[in-house]
Amino acid sequence: MAVFEDSAFADHERVIFCRDAQTGLKAIIAIHSTALGPAAGGTRLWAYESDDAALHDVLRLSHAMSYKNAMAGLKFGGGKAVIIKTPDFDGTDALYEKYAGFIDQLNGAYVTAEDVGMSVEIMQTIARKTKYVSGLPAKAGHAGGDPSPKTSYGIFRGIEAAVAFQLGRDSVDGLTIAIQGVGNVGYHLCRFLAEAGAKLVVADIDEARVKRACDEFGATAVAVDEIVMQKADVLAPCALGATINAQSIPALQTTIVAGGANNQLETPEDGQRLSAAGILYAPDYVINGGGIINVASEFYGDADDDEVMRRIAEIGPRLTGIFETARQSGKPTNVVADEMARKIIESGGQN
Ligand code: NAD
Repeated sequence: MAVFEDSAFADHERVIFCRDAQTGLKAIIAIHSTALGPAAGGTRLWAYESDDAALHDVLRLSHAMSYKNAMAGLKFGGGKAVIIKTPDFDGTDALYEKYAGFIDQLNGAYVTAEDVGMSVEIMQTIARKTKYVSGLPAKAGHAGGDPSPKTSYGIFRGIEAAVAFQLGRDSVDGLTIAIQGVGNVGYHLCRFLAEAGAKLVVADIDEARVKRACDEFGATAVAVDEIVMQKADVLAPCALGATINAQSIPALQTTIVAGGANNQLETPEDGQRLSAAGILYAPDYVINGGGIINVASEFYGDADDDEVMRRIAEIGPRLTGIFETARQSGKPTNVVADEMARKIIESGGQN
């Protein structure tokens, strides 16, 4: 496996391969940058096609975490981890404790929390063996708990900013929003949007999750391979990455892409493709920063829930600033965000 040659390597500081034969643990921890603080980002549990695919995913995700944490103004560098779901994976406490041991050996260089396939309960198991974990049950007066409702709240505020900028609308009331993936983030996003009067169209490979969104929020279900081409005011990708690409962009029937999934663009050039098609793209790592803002507040113990919500609501104006800079400069929004994030990292957070 040519780690340094992987296109996603992007100057990572450290990549740790974790293996424990007894529990079957196979995990990779990627530390992209510790320039602004401990490398922080969730752990993803996923059945990858190959170890190379897992490595590529974790490298891309941890790089994006550096940018996400910088743009959210956090004292965190960027990192991410994947646990590879092998065919005989059984997710025992012993496996997660072993994994926690690997995190602990890094002495705080990496801080984990929930991502796809994780839960508060698993974080509690991890916390038995390391203190470098967040997303634990909230203590009274402090931030904490499952970060995904906070992520969804930030996305909701980001969608409001996008419809104000692109459509001149001051609310999502009456607008149609297509949501790809109604897991933790997509589900809570449905709730915020439905409460604000939006009409929802949803798809998920998990039928029970689709049913839940339809039953609770009156959403309309469509097939998994049709969601991105739905006629909608906003497309919100909330499943896995790379669904916005050279093939899907010509089929989009929306003028706004704003959702929670990490790495929505398959390549950076897809940002240019969206821009050329007149589609406003809310850079993923800016709009989905609510969860890590919550994690940071929990880890540093510097905010209660109200203050966390206030910090997350700043995602709206932050996106508006990116949209305006993109319009003035003629650059795609993803390029504008990348430039801003790199500047913050290079200045050690002073920018
Ligand atoms: P999740 O596993 O709870 O939900 C993902 C959902 O997507 C699942 O219901 C899954 O069945 C569905 N899905 C997978 N492939 C699909 C496909 N091809 N079409 C339609 N649905 C599909 O995970 P989550 O925590 O909700 O995370 C969703 C996305 O948001 C991920 O990209 C994650 O990295 C990102 N994200 C999550 C958080 C968080 O706080 N959980 C924070 C930032 C970013």
